[in-house]
Amino acid sequence: MPMPLALPTINDERLLARYPFMPQGREHMRQILEINGVTIEDLIEAPWLEDVRTRGRLRLLDSVIHKDGAETSSGVDLSSEVGRMTEVLSFLHAMLVVCASFNERLLARWVEGESSRADSLFGDDLENFELIASSYLSEIRTEPQQGNKEPVYWIPMVDFIELCPRISGAYWHLPNRPVEDGWVRMDPAVRESSRERTARLLKERVRENLTDACLERMSRMSEEFAALFSDPVERITSLLSERVEAEMPMSAAVREDWPPCFESAVSELNQGVNVNHVGRVFLAAFSKSIGLSPEQTCSFFANAPDYSAETTGYQVNQIYERDYTPHGCAALKTSARCPVQPGDDRLCDQEWLTHPLKYIRAKQRSRFRESSQGSQESEVVESESETANS
Ligand code: SF4
Repeated sequence: MPMPLALPTINDERLLARYPFMPQGREHMRQILEINGVTIEDLIEAPWLEDVRTRGRLRLLDSVIHKDGAETSSGVDLSSEVGRMTEVLSFLHAMLVVCASFNERLLARWVEGESSRADSLFGDDLENFELIASSYLSEIRTEPQQGNKEPVYWIPMVDFIELCPRISGAYWHLPNRPVEDGWVRMDPAVRESSRERTARLLKERVRENLTDACLERMSRMSEEFAALFSDPVERITSLLSERVEAEMPMSAAVREDWPPCFESAVSELNQGVNVNHVGRVFLAAFSKSIGLSPEQTCSFFANAPDYSAETTGYQVNQIYERDYTPHGCAALKTSARCPVQPGDDRLCDQEWLTHPLKYIRAKQRSRFRESSQGSQESEVVESESETANS
């Protein structure tokens, strides 16, 4: 794994408090515990550390609720010693709760929230960016630009090749990047500076480091130790279940729930029928909204009469990267991409049905209600048969 052979030293305590997940943060965390005489038991129950626990809970909650971009501003004053201690120990508290849950879904969610937060903070940190990047990449080069323009960064190809497959979008394909003597140029793109694009790569390293650190802690954590965190673990795992349930409709799309306009675009392409431009853009944007991968979306186009794997991959990635919103019913009707007539589909006839995403949500809500009613009924049947047998 290409990482720097020797980590750069960070003496700025504010920086270590803002980024407690950095590789240099572990030793700093140990020193904070030692200097302040804090034990793990204190972290769990000492009254004077209540602010730390509250901040840790908020940090964790934020990751679970906003998994795609946790809040970047903590509101904690990092110029004070107490503020810095709170920030570092609250991170440790949140991490221990996650590890003590032994719940891989919670772990993935927390890691995603923390690494997305790191991505935004790194991308904004002009002053410290090179130091941060040197802590996660084997090297980094800065190319100054004329005038007041921000510098452009170059990173070693080995780091790029290892990290880019985890990111979707044409920008991250090596043939699309300028390469010179084993270095990859991180041009500004998609309204992001070179620094913000490079921070996106660093996010992958943060994710990898945090996951490894947590899995290692979990493997060493005894049941007895984990039980000390049972209250916060119970609270956060039940919140996570609620969130997953609320998000389920869009992430568990099944074919019977697809609106007729999406179904017809997929079937027509599959049968080699030419689908117009609006239909194709709609198909890709809608696929993204319902959680299909770019690869799955590209496969819908494989039988199109003018199919080219390279062009399709490029265009689908553009739509995924730019986060296009799928067309609504009015635009699809105008472009001859709505296949239903009044009376064909009960849901499409509803006045409130103005967008195909509303269609799929309505279908999935009713599927979810039916399945929960079914499980309640089977519980009643089971308890009735238990009563009858007793
Ligand atoms: S009415 Fe809307 S959701 Fe239904 S098929 Fe037409 S465009 Fe799709």
